[in-house]
Amino acid sequence: MAFENLEVWFVTGAQLLYGGDAVVAVDAHSNAMVKGLNDSGKLPFKVVYKGTANSSSEVSAAFKAANNDEKCVGIITWMHTFSPAKMWIHGLQELKKPLLHLHTQFNKEIPWETMDMDFMNLNQSAHGDREFGFINARMRRPRKVVVGFWQDEQTLAKIAVWMRVSAAWADAQSMRIIRFGDNMNNVAVTDGDKVEAEMRLGYHVDEYPIADLVAVMDQVSEADVTAMLKTYEKEYILADNVKEGGKDRKQVILAAREEIAMRRFLESKGAKAFTTSFDELSGMDQLPGLASQRLMAEGYGFGAEGDWKTAALCRTMWYMGQGLEGGSSFLEDYTLNFDGASSSILQAHMLEVCPLIAESKPRLEVHPLGIGGKNDPARLVFTTHEGTGVAATVIDMGSRFRLIVNQVDCIKSKALPKLPVASALWIPQPNLEVGAGAWILAGGTHHTSFSFALTQEYLEDYAEIAGIEMIVIDNDTTISNFKKELRMNDVYYLLNKALQ
Ligand code: MN
Repeated sequence: MAFENLEVWFVTGAQLLYGGDAVVAVDAHSNAMVKGLNDSGKLPFKVVYKGTANSSSEVSAAFKAANNDEKCVGIITWMHTFSPAKMWIHGLQELKKPLLHLHTQFNKEIPWETMDMDFMNLNQSAHGDREFGFINARMRRPRKVVVGFWQDEQTLAKIAVWMRVSAAWADAQSMRIIRFGDNMNNVAVTDGDKVEAEMRLGYHVDEYPIADLVAVMDQVSEADVTAMLKTYEKEYILADNVKEGGKDRKQVILAAREEIAMRRFLESKGAKAFTTSFDELSGMDQLPGLASQRLMAEGYGFGAEGDWKTAALCRTMWYMGQGLEGGSSFLEDYTLNFDGASSSILQAHMLEVCPLIAESKPRLEVHPLGIGGKNDPARLVFTTHEGTGVAATVIDMGSRFRLIVNQVDCIKSKALPKLPVASALWIPQPNLEVGAGAWILAGGTHHTSFSFALTQEYLEDYAEIAGIEMIVIDNDTTISNFKKELRMNDVYYLLNKALQ
């Protein structure tokens, strides 16, 4: 079950100035509101009401408890009455979990005929939430501000996005990434500071020699391989040469052995993501393409050629999108198709594209791979459906991580009879000229984490929680403004620490 046992906590700001009756009313309204949020069916997991906070010590106690509770992945605050914000300072200094500030009101409309001063003393979020906003701004506290009536769909949708991202953030704090082999020699963009990544983004990166995986492969039983082949036959259309008795059947048998061994290896290490490299296949018959594709579909993050940053982002984006329509995948900018306003980029990889984004049942095929000097690898071949998605990457700028996000429109692809790999074809927003131009100016990778299920709002919430730079390329992007943003961001991040 996705997000099982996770919670976000709801803390209502108040004070005792208006007397105990007011706090009792605030408490009743908050209970009703949290019940409404949970009963809406629009949120991915449970919101737990933690009572009113009426003093500095109550705020600190609630936030300390949140820090120490594994189930709690974030805090929602709402200032029902005026809650003097100095009482939030110590708690906010200690709070380690993501924060959402909900600016709403218990009553939807003004009760013009009946409203009196008692009503005004109680229902003060219009100014109480501004007082709370100030202290967060003053403290440079990362948070998401959601404004809207608590029963409205748009409000619930924004809270739901943040909850999914907060859950993925918690997931990343215990993420272990295993690299089979190092980053591909000489490649710059896939490398980076793994110490800074663990401090800033939470995940931990290890390396194992491929020989350790080969040792596990040698222990895989024939019965397990046979069962895996049955799974392939059920889930995919098998090309003639890979069916039982086909001339390349042995390559599929090897692929099944690789998949079983890789899953066992990752499970035994408690890993949530992995990388491979065609440079490091000593003792292997072939690059584990099919295994990587199928493990991605189970939620393992993947990066090719040792690209651990993309592996981590793939896992995080898959995690956020659990249960939503539209899958996610590792992809690579493969080749360009110049066609005027419809100019596009073919997205593929030598083998490893996730079948979660397939338009129809994938074909299981075996073909030669003109790189690595190994035997012919098995792979799933498919194209993706049409639709808008989001492509993202994290790069290491030396002094900071930069998240680059591009909204892309997937269009109908064509068959590639001589290049039998899974692929997508997309037009980066606003078009190839500006989209790819901006991506290149920002230093974006040739590898991306792509999702049909997510929008840029998810990644914006992620960057806010992580405290990393985010730069968006969409239909509003112009190159001249984009260059200004890059320059301004350099100044901002240079001064950022001094501002804290
Ligand atoms: Mn690659």
